[in-house]
Amino acid sequence: MKNEYNNEKVTNISQFAFAAPEEYKSMFVTDAPKRKEIILAKIGEVALKGLNRKNFEDLLIKNIKKKIHKLGRFEVVSSQSTIRITPLDDSVDMDEVSDKVSKVFGIVTFSRACVTEKDIEDIKAAAVEYLKPIFDKNISFKVESKRSDKKFPYGSPEISKIVGGHLADTFPNVTVDVHNPDVTVTVEVRDFAAYVHASVEEGAGGLPVGCGGKAAILISGGIDSPVASYMMAKRGIELTAVHFASPPYTSDRAEEKVRDLLEIVSDYAGSMDMYTVPFTKIQEEIQKNCPEELFTIIMRRLMMNIAQRIADKVGCQALITGESLGQVASQTIGALACTDEVADIPVFRPLIGMDKKDIIAISHKINTFETSCLPYEDCCTVFTPRHPRTKPKLDLVRKAEAKIDWEDMINEAVENAKITKIIRNA
Ligand code: ATP
Ligand code: MG
Repeated sequence: MKNEYNNEKVTNISQFAFAAPEEYKSMFVTDAPKRKEIILAKIGEVALKGLNRKNFEDLLIKNIKKKIHKLGRFEVVSSQSTIRITPLDDSVDMDEVSDKVSKVFGIVTFSRACVTEKDIEDIKAAAVEYLKPIFDKNISFKVESKRSDKKFPYGSPEISKIVGGHLADTFPNVTVDVHNPDVTVTVEVRDFAAYVHASVEEGAGGLPVGCGGKAAILISGGIDSPVASYMMAKRGIELTAVHFASPPYTSDRAEEKVRDLLEIVSDYAGSMDMYTVPFTKIQEEIQKNCPEELFTIIMRRLMMNIAQRIADKVGCQALITGESLGQVASQTIGALACTDEVADIPVFRPLIGMDKKDIIAISHKINTFETSCLPYEDCCTVFTPRHPRTKPKLDLVRKAEAKIDWEDMINEAVENAKITKIIRNA
């Protein structure tokens, strides 16, 4: 087989330019070599934050450590826009670490890599050992190199040529294809070591949770609000969850379902507190005293009011809902304006312009869909008016509300809210 590395000039392209095809990834992972494996995580927007960059990186490192601490001991450090996660125990399961790392916001891509000495012979040997499971197949490949340690005696194109040539000689069944290879092998020569890897996986993207402040998510057991939680956590928001329950109209199982959903969301968003607000009395009062077509809008205003009081108590600067324009009568422009009128802090609605099918696609991706589809009732679905107002008039809504003194009931609901800690895999 012709070894193109002997006669073709190889240029250095950016370090994470290509990913190995899906079917090859698992081979690296499962037939793991004896050599030490680490994770190199590439940070995205975090790197763009100028003077704040150090704070963002520190927060990201803290979040990574929190997410993987149960899997063993690790060194997590940042250098040259890359975070290096090194297991300190041999027993660490790198599949599990990879899975956790893939859900940390702030990481754009990551690779599992094999550590080598900063010595060209060791790099060659490591590449052969580490890549053997995949290079035993009939694949095409190329090598890209990045030499950030300028004292290393070989330049990047030279490293690629030497390592590529050695791989092609060692595995006569593979072919070199520098334009459209099945697998791109990357060699990185960095400050303390060199690394060889051949797969780039997509990270969770976004910004590290906590860098964007805190907000309270109004969470139901539906499809939308867990997706909204995920989306705002992705923008760096730390969440507190507020759920309204109306027993006996809603069951314990309905509340458990919300807890289950939040646990799944916390895989990404980190641990959070869930406030379960007793809402029965308020809903019964609305039903007894307000015009039927305004039940929902008045209920939503009371939800906002209570959620905002909880937000104030726990230092949240905004509310989040899973509303989407036009989805139901209470989500028209007029109805949303009516709901917002009770809020003094911003209300984030990350799904406002999304179609249901796009929301569902995200819920599949984050694994909340199946749980959301379990058939338990929500307080919004009890006392549903037959003909809800789609264009509620604020003065009429206010007038209807004014018949009742809500203050004591609201305070009672806030005081009696039950707090549950949501910690994934606790
Ligand atoms: P889906 O529309 O998928 O059934 P949903 O959670 O969006 O689920 P909606 O009736 O559309 O349900 O409610 C709109 C928004 O109101 C929700 O996204 C959520 O933010 C909030 N909400 C609804 N019910 C509750 C509840 N019981 N507790 C807290 N917030 C709720
Ligand atoms: Mg909805």
